[in-house]
Order: sequence, then C-alpha cells, then structure tokens
Amino acid sequence: MALAAGPEAQVGKLVIRNIGLLLSGALEAPLLDADTVVAEGGRITAVGRAADCDTDQARVVVDAQGCALAPGLIDSHVHPVFGDWTPRQSQLGWIDSFLHGGVTTMISAGEVHLPGRPRDIIGVKALAITAQRAYSNFRPGGVKVLAGAPVLEQGMVESDFAELAAAGVTLLGEVGLGTVKAGQEAAMMVGWARKYGIQSTIHTGGPSVPGSGYIDADTVLAADADIIGHINGGHTALPLNQIRCLCEGCGRGIEIVHNGNELAGLSALRFARELDQLPRVILGTDSPAGSGVQPLGILRMIALLSSIGDLPAELAFCLATGNTARMRDLDCGIIAPGRAADFVLMDRAQHSAGRDLLDSVRQGDLPGIGMVIIDGIVRSQRSRNTPPAERIPVLVT
Ligand SMILES: [Zn+2]
Repeated sequence: MALAAGPEAQVGKLVIRNIGLLLSGALEAPLLDADTVVAEGGRITAVGRAADCDTDQARVVVDAQGCALAPGLIDSHVHPVFGDWTPRQSQLGWIDSFLHGGVTTMISAGEVHLPGRPRDIIGVKALAITAQRAYSNFRPGGVKVLAGAPVLEQGMVESDFAELAAAGVTLLGEVGLGTVKAGQEAAMMVGWARKYGIQSTIHTGGPSVPGSGYIDADTVLAADADIIGHINGGHTALPLNQIRCLCEGCGRGIEIVHNGNELAGLSALRFARELDQLPRVILGTDSPAGSGVQPLGILRMIALLSSIGDLPAELAFCLATGNTARMRDLDCGIIAPGRAADFVLMDRAQHSAGRDLLDSVRQGDLPGIGMVIIDGIVRSQRSRNTPPAERIPVLVT
C-alpha cells in the first residue's frame, strides 16, 4: 500500500472511486446511488457513477475497495483548552485520537477547563478571542476545532457581544456554566449574541461538576439558546417529562451527548421521532469531562441510537453529520457539490455479527475506519482506535 503523501502534495484534485455505500448525511435521502466522489480545492465538485464524473488529472486517487463513505463526523459538544492537550484528564493528543474515530469537526461549548479560567468580563473576552485565534491557526490532526466560546457572566452588556463578534467569535459557551443562570437574564444575552451572529448553547440538567449549576426545562425554554446542550444531562438528566417538554416547546437543536444519561438520551430520540422533530437531533460527546475522553464517542452514539434506539443506521449517521451542519450553519456534513470535502471511509468490523456495515451498526457494533479525509486531504489511514475493518481503502496515487 502506498504511504500517504504529505498534506502539501494533496491540494489538487482528489478522486475516490469504488465506493460501496454512499451515506449522504441528509435525512431526506440518506443513501446516494453513486460510487465516486471528486473534490478540488477542498470542496466536493462531483458525486455520481464513475462514468459520469470527470476523474481526469487527479492528483490523489483513493480506491475505496467497496468501503462506505460518509461525511466526516461532527462532535457538537467538546471542551477544548489549548492545542491537543486537555487538563481535565491530563491527556495529550486527544483531538488526534478523535480523528481516528471519524471526527473531522468539533464545536467548543466553552474552554471551561482552563486552569484559573478568568471570570471577569475583560478576561472572559480575552480568553474567547485567544481560543478562537489559536484553533484557527492550529488544527490537531487536521481536525477543525471551532473554539472561542465565552461563558456568560453577570454584568456583560450588548457592546461586549458586538466586540466579540467583531473580533471573530461565533459561539457562546454553555449558558449556565458562569454566573448567568436565570432564564430572563440569559435570554437577554442570548438575544444580543444572536443579533451579532453568535450562536448559543445552554447547559441542561443537573450540575456536571462541583461549581456548575442546575438548569431545568423552564429555564432552557426562557433562555431560548440555539442549541439545547446535552438534553440528556451532563451527566444528571432532567425528568423525562421535562425532556419531552423541551422537544415539544421550541424549535431549537436537541443535542444528545455521550457523557450524559443514556436512558434520557434514548428517550429524547424517541420523543423527537414521535413529534416528527428528528431533523433537530444532533450528537456530541461533551468531552473531555469527568467521564473522560472518548475518541469513538460519536460512533458509539450512532451505534447506541441505532441499536437500542431502533433508528435505521443510515439515519443515525445523519444526526452526527447533516443535522449538525444544518442546525449549526456549517459548510460540511453533507455529500454534495460545494460542500467541504470531509469524509470518513469505513467498513463492517471484522467478525461483526452484522451482514454489512449498516446491519453491524444496527446490531450495536462500531464500524472499522479505514481512512479520514479533511478538506480533500488524506489525514489518516487505518484507524488506530476502531476495531479493524474488513476492507480498507487504498491510496493509489
Ligand atoms: Zn454542560
């Protein structure tokens, strides 16, 4: 097998052929009738049958060997600090490890684990701007870490949000992790954030760690943040009737996380489906956390929701890709021309009882990852973290 060329050598045209199963990331049509994907300049330019795609003069050719291709997975809820280090569990290289779990984009819900995190307003703003800059300039393993998510503190005024937005901040950290915990106060600041194009997430449920707070369904609905962060708790969940109220009572993102309550997560999925609200359901890990760091956390959520949650596997992948991209206004997560060329190639794990990739996930097994591509560049080949896949793609040129 050829060795992966350096990222610089791969900026030209990319052709991926012999794809056995193409998962689109879009709930309305989760499987595509295609075996070839072409990308140029980091964007998808064609998706179709080989004979219908212009595959000439490719700089990089990947033979998928019949493996499945899906959009790179998006982790909607992480807590990075700096670089590829987390002080929460004293781990190095955790983001690169997530790459080997198929994650190509991560969204910060606040850089809250920074030792000595500032709580004064100028310090809150300085940290957010620094984190946004640092992760724009540095991508561990090539993973896109969207960071710089300030935590709301009492005393912030509208001009603070204007200043943050002008400096490039696009996210708020989890509402409720700072001193702002009351619904009306949070709603005012969330409104200012929204006015300046900053997206918001709210902590839902009991305190995560000593020092964080309890946020009930009434407060979540009053604050009206864009994403109902870990609707299944982080880890302590709200009573199931309150979770149903959240699914019914607004049109915001329903985020289910790995480091939450599994019963509450499965219940949130069931409520969303009963209410015809599946397009709002998105997935995260909420890691690093007290429960640790989960490189395969998004794959584990897909397998959990598909197997015990009885959701067809091709739809479960959409929750971690196209749904998150739509709810969070990202240019990735869907296999279609114009979208970011972020892909994960995978196959049924060796000795899975499932007859193929989708059946194996439906039976609760994790897929084996054979290659991850971000912005049209091959970032990793056979995963060091997943069970070995039956087939793996080959880098032809
Ligand atoms: Zn939280």
